[in-house]
Amino acid sequence: MHEMSLCEGVLQIIETEAKRQQFRKVKTVWLAIGVMSGVEIEAMRFCFDVIVRNTLADGATLEIIEVPAEAWCLECAQTVSIQQRYDACPHCGSYQLQVTSGEEMRIKELEVE
Ligand SMILES: [Zn+2]
Repeated sequence: MHEMSLCEGVLQIIETEAKRQQFRKVKTVWLAIGVMSGVEIEAMRFCFDVIVRNTLADGATLEIIEVPAEAWCLECAQTVSIQQRYDACPHCGSYQLQVTSGEEMRIKELEVE
């Protein structure tokens, strides 16, 4: 499962941060997930609980923040909202869009002890 390796990546980042910032327990993890990232949020929750078992994040709450899809329109020279990749600009109908957000997945914040 794709989400399993994503969660392993998240745990690695948490463990690296734990060494750097000297915390021993993670209570909450805020994960920003782009709506176009292809990540299944329910699968992510399931995998997270499995992966963090017996680690410093055991029992931690996973909070998911959905990041909306946005792109830069070359015609309008501004950021516009899109529903999915390869959408046309909602203002001018141009397809000259560069996706700027909505595809990423990253840790936004950690609540630690
Ligand atoms: Zn446009």
